[in-house]
Amino acid sequence: MIPYGRQDIHPEDIEAVVEVLKSDFLTQGPVVPAFEAAVATTVGAGFGVAVTNATAALHIACMALELGPNDLLWTSPITFVASANAARYCGAEVDFVDIDPDTFNMCPDALEAKLVAAKAAGRLPKIIMPVHMAGQSCDMARIGGLARRHGIKVIEDASHAIGGSHRAKPVGACAFSDIAVFSFHPVKIVTTGEGGMAMTNDAGLAERMQRLRSHGITRDPALMTQKPDGGWYYQLLELGFNYRMTDIQAALGLSQVSRLNDYVNRRNEIADYYDSALQSLPLHLPGRVIETRSAFHLYVVRLRNPARRNAVFDALREVGIGVNLHYIPVHLQPYYRALGFGPGAFPSAEAYYQAAISIPMFPTLSRSDQSIVVDALRGVCD
Ligand SMILES: *Cc1c(COP(=O)(O)O)cnc(C)c1O
Repeated sequence: MIPYGRQDIHPEDIEAVVEVLKSDFLTQGPVVPAFEAAVATTVGAGFGVAVTNATAALHIACMALELGPNDLLWTSPITFVASANAARYCGAEVDFVDIDPDTFNMCPDALEAKLVAAKAAGRLPKIIMPVHMAGQSCDMARIGGLARRHGIKVIEDASHAIGGSHRAKPVGACAFSDIAVFSFHPVKIVTTGEGGMAMTNDAGLAERMQRLRSHGITRDPALMTQKPDGGWYYQLLELGFNYRMTDIQAALGLSQVSRLNDYVNRRNEIADYYDSALQSLPLHLPGRVIETRSAFHLYVVRLRNPARRNAVFDALREVGIGVNLHYIPVHLQPYYRALGFGPGAFPSAEAYYQAAISIPMFPTLSRSDQSIVVDALRGVCD
């Protein structure tokens, strides 16, 4: 089976992990801050806060921006459920902004129209969470500008997009947002097994997220309500979680992130090959946006005849091509339907879902395996 995605582990990654296992610290010792600094430097952000996974990072990002009950967060319907769930963990309500059919990203025109209506109704969101679907940045200049005009905070769900760039800025530099979140799940661009990181340029937000990942505890006397009782003393200032990343994971991430450029270059080569090899097939290929370099976490094709999609999907699986589908529109999940959403609410997202297939995309995908994928697609599409 050729999978749709897989990790790439080098001998030096294994050595780095073994080093930590032989050291004094297994969890949050010196390697977590080293990994945070490496990612922050790589993407041009002021701070990085490493946590157990991107879902946790999205959760504490929402908390740090004070999202709570009666507040509203808007995200994209074409994302993993975690983007929307982060708001629900805070007791906030979720709504969605439909996608641009060509990029699968939150549509800025739809956002603008929805903001006008929401403002008139007196129900603006507190946070907008665009998702850089498949690794290509959303139009952050426009989304960030619209948000700022209405006093709304922005969290980028950049789980797919480390190593990508937009308008000459790396994704994660937070040029048009308050916080950006990366995932280090094994199918993503670089991995820590499980892991995530929240990037920000705001020292206060970074400090708040550092506290929230460790129960809400501080050891900083300046933040305490009284003088410390002694050298052991700490205070619980607010209710947080244990979302700490281990040094074992951070060592893997630190070693992996040193190859980020190679990974993203290779993914772009694979995408370029697919773009040319598939162009005569009855498919819509992923839209490319100017001034934007995708990290190409995913390569999504859409059938020109969506009625053929299931047959094509099944036929590819049958010949050993591990195609997948990213994503089922979040608002159609039973949990969100129970909150009042239903079919027809976001037509572009729903049309995308009817036509999409993710085909294999990972840095060690060989040219010959890519040819097998292309030939199989040609065979089943015609
Ligand atoms: C993978 C992913 C997440 C969740 O990441 P984890 O690290 O698995 O928690 C969130 N949002 C998107 C868009 C993702 O692809």
